[in-house]
Amino acid sequence: MTGRFAPSPTSAMHLGNLRTALLSWVFARREGEGFLVRIEDLDQQRVTAAHGVADQQLTDLAAIGLEWDEPVVRQSDRLGLYRDAITSLDTYECYCTRREVAEASQAPHDGHRPYPGTCANLSDSERAQRRTQRPAALRVRSEGASFAIHDRYAGEVTGLVDDFVVARGDGTPAYNLAVVVDDGLQGVSQVVRGDDLLSSAPRQAWLADRLGFPVPEYMHVGLAVNAEGQRLAKRDGAVSLADLAELGHSAVEVRGWLLASLDLEPGLTNAELLQLPLEAWAAAARRWVVDPDQLAGLVNRMSTT
Ligand SMILES: [Zn+2]
Repeated sequence: MTGRFAPSPTSAMHLGNLRTALLSWVFARREGEGFLVRIEDLDQQRVTAAHGVADQQLTDLAAIGLEWDEPVVRQSDRLGLYRDAITSLDTYECYCTRREVAEASQAPHDGHRPYPGTCANLSDSERAQRRTQRPAALRVRSEGASFAIHDRYAGEVTGLVDDFVVARGDGTPAYNLAVVVDDGLQGVSQVVRGDDLLSSAPRQAWLADRLGFPVPEYMHVGLAVNAEGQRLAKRDGAVSLADLAELGHSAVEVRGWLLASLDLEPGLTNAELLQLPLEAWAAAARRWVVDPDQLAGLVNRMSTT
């Protein structure tokens, strides 16, 4: 069995990303299993604009005490593997703009707007005509499937699988395709990630099955959110290791905050973390409300209770 953490190198990791990374590491290593880090850098425009972020992310993971099996894989080196996988699927060209999809489909469900199948059955002449207007994305034909996954915290989750995009109009493999191909080829059998991705799990598991890969075990863990309950972001202030270092907080101190947010003693070593029973990690399922002004007091509160 193998677990993984897969950051996108488009901005510095914040406390929530670090907490998810720590949990991914624990859940893999506590069973003595492999742990991989994969850089999800397919969005070349955003990655180029964030020069040096990927290396900084690896430095940050090490700074909070994590280690991983080499080599670190970068998706931008694996385009051929994604193209091979796409070729093996039943796909069709889609010429719809975002706006056209929005107008023709139902309201988004958990951030995903199900595709209404507009381009599923075009004739050859219709396709030839639409190709002159815009480059085609590729969608996988799902035949209205639904798929159930098992999540350690959410239980059984069943989702409808629409004809989702597997390659963008510019030829870039889509996130939903690349993540499934990588997990399959890397032998990842345990996926630990933020609970904002829970609703995409049935779609991805269906695709894994289609591509002949075993469906991984899922653990969607609580996101870090700001005081308003929104996903933690740069605008919430000092939430990356670099920001916090400027304020005099070391990576070791930050690691203590992450553990305290999980109802654990902040000073636990890696070896001690790996010996905790699974029940000790129940707080992983909860969202973490991060108030940057109160972070420094977090560990103190922990050690006095
Ligand atoms: Zn379309």
